[in-house]
Amino acid sequence: MATNLPLHVTPPDDGLPPHHRPPVRRQTRRLHVGPVPVGGGAPVSVQSMTTTPTYDVNATLQQIASLNAAGVDLVRVACPRQRDADALAEIAQKSTVPVIVDIHFQWKYAMAAIEAGVAGIRINPGNIHKNGDHSKVKVIGDAAKEAGVPIRIGVNGGSLEQRLLDKHGGVTPEAMVESALDEARLLEDVGFGDIKISVKHSDPWVMVQTYRLLSQACDYPLHLGVTEAGPAVTGSIKSAVGIGALLAEGIGDTIRVSLSADPVEEVKAGVGILEALHLRERGLDVVSCPSCARAEVDVYTLAEEVQQGLEGVDVPLRVAVMGCIVNGPGEAREADLGVAAGKGKGQIIRRGEVLFTVPEDEIVDALVRYAREVADEIRAERGEGAPTVVA
Ligand code: SF4
Repeated sequence: MATNLPLHVTPPDDGLPPHHRPPVRRQTRRLHVGPVPVGGGAPVSVQSMTTTPTYDVNATLQQIASLNAAGVDLVRVACPRQRDADALAEIAQKSTVPVIVDIHFQWKYAMAAIEAGVAGIRINPGNIHKNGDHSKVKVIGDAAKEAGVPIRIGVNGGSLEQRLLDKHGGVTPEAMVESALDEARLLEDVGFGDIKISVKHSDPWVMVQTYRLLSQACDYPLHLGVTEAGPAVTGSIKSAVGIGALLAEGIGDTIRVSLSADPVEEVKAGVGILEALHLRERGLDVVSCPSCARAEVDVYTLAEEVQQGLEGVDVPLRVAVMGCIVNGPGEAREADLGVAAGKGKGQIIRRGEVLFTVPEDEIVDALVRYAREVADEIRAERGEGAPTVVA
């Protein structure tokens, strides 16, 4: 354990002005989930969890592939039954992303997961006991150490021990942190240190305070998440607030947005949070005005069609779609490519230079065509040859 954590300082020679640099990260220990480094200044990784029955290997692998395409770094699968445990070896072997197995209570499934060759497990050692005997924790710790498999301790506000609830008067940040450190100690006592910790709560503000406290109390990498955040829109908002606030303070090494929705949406939201904080390089960024009574074109449709037309762009490219000439030209000039619309027409602006004016029904085609050109220029500037956009 360590307090007064040092900060991981962003190198000053990154060529970026200070206000474009990502948040200064708190220094944590480094561990590896398969080939993915977590903590110690490694890029913040995005996680999600499959919703298919784990024993259905094909369905699970297909969903993992979809999550991979959306930008996930690590995928978690649940293992509630023996037949799920039986499927782990094939999933671990064929998955395109390192697999973490989520286990509750059953120490045998933890052992099965490690033997199956998975990249990580999530288990709460406090759950692994019989009549208070924690001897199986050592068995798991030894096997995980031998296999180089890290363990995440996942404390959840909804399942705190009664002892801690009584001591702290409910689900408080202090109670959750004490629970997490107690769990970590069980592993430390058997000589295991490749630990990451989460202390999730469904209230983003409670969650923020809990992780702040935890980050002062230990130097383990932290896995951030707002648990049971809700459906896509409200869940993404709560997660962006909770996870985003912490990342902006430099706290957090890996994240999961939990939504009652397709897990691909979780990944998109997670990637979006990292991009918003400059913690992951942006891909396509369509900036569009909210539209108002001054708008002289259909901004919503234009923005949607431009977004679709540029699907697949894999370089940082900002395209502005602005509804009128009040703020339009200024915002469009800040972008790589933009349109400042007027009545039934649009002025196309490329990296600050006004190119030409087109009728409204040609705006999308013009933007997409020139945005592709700019994307190729960006690739060339970066020394990457192949075209960025698949038509
Ligand atoms: S750019 Fe023009 S249309 Fe869009 S919100 Fe601003 S004032 Fe309204």
